[in-house]
Amino acid sequence: MPPLLFRSTNGQSPAVNLRGAFHAGLAPDRGLYLPEKFPQMPPDEIAAFATLPYPEIAFRVLSKFTEGIISDNDLAAMCRDAYDFPIPLEQIHDRIFLMRLDQGPTASFKDFAAQMMARMFGHFLRDDGQQVTILTATSGDTGSAVAHAFHGVPGVRVIVLFPLAEVSVSQRKLMTTLTGNVRIVAIDGKFDDCQAMVKRAFADQELKHIPLSSANSINIGRLLPQSVYYFYAASRLAKSGEPMVFSIPSGNFGDAMGAVVARQMGLPVKKLVVPVNDNDAFPRFLASGVYEKVVPSRNSVSNAMNVGHPSNLARLVANYGGQMDETGKIHRQPDLAAMRRDLFSSSVSDDRTRAALKEFWDKYQLLLEPHGAVAWQGFLDWQAVEPPGDAPAVIVETANPAKFPEEIQKMMKWEPDIPPQMEAALKSPEDFDRMGADYEKFKAYLIQKHAM
Ligand SMILES: *Cc1c(COP(=O)(O)O)cnc(C)c1O
Repeated sequence: MPPLLFRSTNGQSPAVNLRGAFHAGLAPDRGLYLPEKFPQMPPDEIAAFATLPYPEIAFRVLSKFTEGIISDNDLAAMCRDAYDFPIPLEQIHDRIFLMRLDQGPTASFKDFAAQMMARMFGHFLRDDGQQVTILTATSGDTGSAVAHAFHGVPGVRVIVLFPLAEVSVSQRKLMTTLTGNVRIVAIDGKFDDCQAMVKRAFADQELKHIPLSSANSINIGRLLPQSVYYFYAASRLAKSGEPMVFSIPSGNFGDAMGAVVARQMGLPVKKLVVPVNDNDAFPRFLASGVYEKVVPSRNSVSNAMNVGHPSNLARLVANYGGQMDETGKIHRQPDLAAMRRDLFSSSVSDDRTRAALKEFWDKYQLLLEPHGAVAWQGFLDWQAVEPPGDAPAVIVETANPAKFPEEIQKMMKWEPDIPPQMEAALKSPEDFDRMGADYEKFKAYLIQKHAM
């Protein structure tokens, strides 16, 4: 079979294979890549997942996309290597479960995508004999997940920019205790400054001799691995063919798009609940059909979801027959009735997030962090308007509570245990560079690092 092709949501760029989509990140017309046709996972193949370990399920799902691009042997080895940590499914009550995606090397769900993406990148670079510098700006979880995943990958140098005053100590240390091919740069500025500097570097003609690449959330390589854990949860909790409910706390909607990919491949889904924090552009759009981004984005306790204009909405809209460009302008309305049938979204304020976290502990003795608390409250909001029946449901917990000790301390009056993989990072010596939000200085830094 010829390799699967990927098309841009803006419809103005040629279709490319996985390797092309991977290297480009953003399509030349500034749209996002989606598979031309979703490969299908027949019911008997899904049923067979019930007894398979996670890396094997990952292999069977991802191989549908990598056929003709990465050999089965190589992909299977990457899956075993990337996914060597547990994925706990804890019962909340009846058939409602908490899926903790926080056991990877940097204790957030970003590890699932970053770990696989780094291995695929390394594989392609080995083939091409190339060197590349991965340049990324982070507000917290992405930077550490990407830095860890690409740490020690031959042919890759990683440079991460973060706003010195805006990340938590544990988020910082998960980046700054890495050495070797990873360089971390603290910027005396805001996340927006870091992002602007990275964007300028990508567009700078005088840096064209440095092969720069990004590992940001719009890359199809980050999206596909995020479909696997939905198959996994269903394999452990649902009867064969039984539709599931998932509640996914959303910022850029990459995690939620992973669930949409799984559903398009054939996973039976009754409802996707996609709650947000105060950045409520999506629930307002779902209700009214009018899209207005939140400018500037609003700060909240679920800080990884402070996104005023979620980039993956372009993919979601395309999935329902519509077209939204990168600025958020809608050129063709999606099938809103179908979207409302499949999706539910509410906005969860900080007050409701904190109350949900506390009540969840009091009622079930299970600890959430702010993002997971948004998922739980969003699920309750959905239950209040639609009888859930007895469909199995999964609340997605996207980070480890130990990443938010200050917030947990405030609510619970005690601090969460620190998982072993974080403990090591918190103890190791830190090493990072520091500069002002000055593009020319940063440019000189890039040129100097490249010459080394
Ligand atoms: C990134 C992140 C999210 C939001 O995921 P999106 O794919 O951007 O919707 C939620 N929780 C945590 C902890 C995150 O790091």
